[in-house]
Amino acid sequence: MNIILFGPPGAGKGTQAEFIVNRFKVVQLSTGDMLRAAVTQGTELGRMAKAVMAAGDLVDDGIILGIIGDRIDEPDCANGFILDGFPRTLPQAAGLDRLLAEKGRKRDAVIEVQVPDSELFARIEKRAAETGGARADDNAETLKKRLEVYHSQTAPVLPYYQEKGMLNTVDGLQTIEAVTAEIMTILEG
Ligand code: AMP
Repeated sequence: MNIILFGPPGAGKGTQAEFIVNRFKVVQLSTGDMLRAAVTQGTELGRMAKAVMAAGDLVDDGIILGIIGDRIDEPDCANGFILDGFPRTLPQAAGLDRLLAEKGRKRDAVIEVQVPDSELFARIEKRAAETGGARADDNAETLKKRLEVYHSQTAPVLPYYQEKGMLNTVDGLQTIEAVTAEIMTILEG
């Protein structure tokens, strides 16, 4: 089972991805987590991505597609994966479809967790307080930029999947448990 989990920063993608991982025995592939690990390790990728991420901008499509293409070839992805925070642009969505076709794999479901911007500011503020400001981009100013980027570059990916009859939308304002229940119904349906 290969799943795309879609939604703005703070929608709860990471939280829901964990439940899906446990239920379906797939791996969570978060491009944000991979980039943060590269920044921490000080790799060439990390050095390149650090300032882009801190500014709330997007890392280059070709680089991201290269990372994902390599990652889904690894043995732990054989049973499936859940993409969290990818694709984030139309070229990434088209690139993913090319990669999957080349590798003889398919995408089984696209799930959008929908949350209005006003709620996201409160959630990111809470996450920043809980994690002691661990993420350089979890602040009101950068979040504003991340949301602009989400609306201008990432949200246009939704019609791409809708036209293919692949898009499922879940109301992310519900409790965590209710969101999980809806997602499970979609995936088991
Ligand atoms: P996230 O943890 O998904 O919120 O991602 C944190 C940051 O990493 C984003 O604001 C971007 O700067 C970068 N990033 C993560 N995933 C992608 C992606 N698919 N394409 C481009 N940049 C990304």
